[in-house]
Amino acid sequence: MERKIAGQTSLEDLSRICPILGRRMHPEFDEGGFVVEVGRVRFGAGRPVVIAGPCAVESAQQMMEVALGVKAAGADMLRGGAFKPRTSPHDFQGLGLEGLKILRAAGDLTGLPVVTEVMDVRLVDTVSEYADMLQIGSRSMQNYPLLVEVGRSGKPVLLKRGMAASLCEWLGAAEYIANEGNLNIVLCERGIKTQASGEYSRYSLDLNVVLAVHAETFLPVIVDPSHATGMGSRVEAASRAAIEFGSDGLMIEVSSWGEVSGVMRPRCDADQAISPSTLRRIVRFIQSREAAATDAEDVVSSDGRTWSR
Ligand code: PEP
Ligand code: MN
Repeated sequence: MERKIAGQTSLEDLSRICPILGRRMHPEFDEGGFVVEVGRVRFGAGRPVVIAGPCAVESAQQMMEVALGVKAAGADMLRGGAFKPRTSPHDFQGLGLEGLKILRAAGDLTGLPVVTEVMDVRLVDTVSEYADMLQIGSRSMQNYPLLVEVGRSGKPVLLKRGMAASLCEWLGAAEYIANEGNLNIVLCERGIKTQASGEYSRYSLDLNVVLAVHAETFLPVIVDPSHATGMGSRVEAASRAAIEFGSDGLMIEVSSWGEVSGVMRPRCDADQAISPSTLRRIVRFIQSREAAATDAEDVVSSDGRTWSR
């Protein structure tokens, strides 16, 4: 019986799918990886990067308030959607160009670089004018013309994993960007659809893929615990777990709704937002791990002899 299935891929096919990004083809990276720089922020340089902000930019007041909150909590970068991919065309679609301008102003106010989603190939230039990093959302991961265009823009790209994408499909999508000469790609695991999706979690957080990404490519990979769980109460635990799995960073949705009086409930994804004070705890967790790693580096005995780890 014929056994080969058209289009079927396995990790063995990665050298064909990803000659640019496959780790096996680049022994020069050895165990290390490629560092992606967004202003002063460095992904893949050892210290996990924290991106935080609202799901959507809703108003100048909301964006400034969240921006100041996440900056005070210790975030490295700001997020906020101006163009939102929504299930229904009747839902809030984002503020568009006005949202981009507000996000840019919030980035300038706080000194944090900003990332925002671009969904439309016709808007890559406009979004590039305002953003420091372009986000490709889960639903657009296989929009190949869009991948080519963000590749040509030369801007750093945050490539979220398609919600049903295999590792080969995800890295194949990244290869489209790299093929345009742009290696400034950060991958983002954001949960995948499984039998459990929607029953007791929004998606299923696939932490195994962090290890697989590091094994198969030299690109950095971060984790979005907000969309993966869909519940603010789970975001801190999921963040810690992601860091333990070697994630190069986190992207977290934050709102001061419920914490600061008078703040309106977010119009998108309110139930998965965490407060700036919970974000602060997550940042502290990352810092305490770093401190522990430094402490563990050398053991010096009383007679001055040193043992390295
Ligand atoms: C987002 O991060 O704003 C978003 C829409 O996430 P995703 O594309 O992963 O659904
Ligand atoms: Mn969201």
